Amino acid sequence: MKKKTILVTGGAGYIGSHMVRVLLEKGWTPVIFDNLSKGHREFIPKGVQFVKGDLLRPEDIRKVFGKYKIDAVIHYAALIVVPESVSEPIKYYQNNITGSINLFSEMVRAGVDKAVFSSSACVYGQPLKNPIKEDEPLKVANPYGATKVIGEQILGDLARAGQMKYVALRYFNVAGAHPSNEIGIKMDKPTHLIPNVMRAALGKLESMSVFGTDYPTKDGTGVRDYIHVLDLCDAHFLALKALFNGKVKSEMINLGNGKGFSVLEIIRQAEKVTGRKVPFKTFPRRPGDCSTVVASYAKANKVLGWKPKRSLEEILASAWAWEQKIAK
Ligand code: UDP
Repeated sequence: MKKKTILVTGGAGYIGSHMVRVLLEKGWTPVIFDNLSKGHREFIPKGVQFVKGDLLRPEDIRKVFGKYKIDAVIHYAALIVVPESVSEPIKYYQNNITGSINLFSEMVRAGVDKAVFSSSACVYGQPLKNPIKEDEPLKVANPYGATKVIGEQILGDLARAGQMKYVALRYFNVAGAHPSNEIGIKMDKPTHLIPNVMRAALGKLESMSVFGTDYPTKDGTGVRDYIHVLDLCDAHFLALKALFNGKVKSEMINLGNGKGFSVLEIIRQAEKVTGRKVPFKTFPRRPGDCSTVVASYAKANKVLGWKPKRSLEEILASAWAWEQKIAK
């Protein structure tokens, strides 16, 4: 297949910056579009085209399509903190929905008709069945999840109008970092489990909080499906190729490991990987959290030929290396 030029919105963020490196390794050309509100300038590799701009300003994105011959777009740029979306819904709808509409409308105007969209397991809420398949009913529980469902719906409508072909990838719990240790999750106050476990192992937190010990799970703590960020990026590359060679038209696809680990299992594994104690205290359930969320990746395997390759140990070891680096 001819090498392509891919616009990566949010390309200076955690997942976007990993994808940029995957595209470079394949010899493809990424163009990064990011407003740097959450992304990091130092995550942008030397020599990669970067446009600082905001999806809330249509003229910013229009310029990109004018300047570069873009073959497809991967759309990561979004606000992603669930509790913040509950307290500031307008900010989330404005940024994630208006931003996506501006992007898609400029794509249509420029005749760019292929998109890979970051969606989320959040669209399922507490599923009726695990592992979750894509035909599980959608049951959104917060504004962040709603922005992902609406994003998928807009793409669906554009596809039906013959203006777009897309793959919406529903991510489960993405974690881990690049082996170069140049990029990883970097937030002032991370809310996700694995960064907090690592910070407790480092002694940056006196103890970490375990939210909920009375879930109907093996040990009472929440069970999730953790997927290495590079496995996730591999699936994005396969999704792009499938759009280009016409193997997929428009699909929603889960991306997870297919295995569930409880919070206490993650803590125990992290203690093994880091050789440190992870001090923790238990608290009541966090509002809005589900008991068990595990993916079926059968569709990703069938449609994209994808399966996860990296283990929980690799996820934790790379997250540990990264957390040690940013602590310095
Ligand atoms: N969790 C926890 N302590 C934390 C962060 C998360 O006990 O500091 C639990 C949370 O209740 C859930 C799991 O860890 O069962 C994964 O949470 P995370 O916020 O990483 O992702 P989510 O599944 O909520 O998107």
